[in-house]
Amino acid sequence: MKKVWIDDECIACGTCVDICPEVFELEGDVATVRADADLSLDDRITEAAETCPVEAIHCES
Ligand code: SF4
Repeated sequence: MKKVWIDDECIACGTCVDICPEVFELEGDVATVRADADLSLDDRITEAAETCPVEAIHCES
């Protein structure tokens, strides 16, 4: 992916962190994209985006 971001709809459920901890982390009451995120993990980033219950994860490939 070229770019991955999380919008403020995030409810901090932790699902994206479970699916792809190399890219996502929980920080307080929101998930964020890690500073050292491995954006080459396209399949799992896509899976996290598709699994997010509030569709808060967005990406550009
Ligand atoms: S899966 Fe969606 S709602 Fe859950 S922590 Fe990740 S971005 Fe937030």
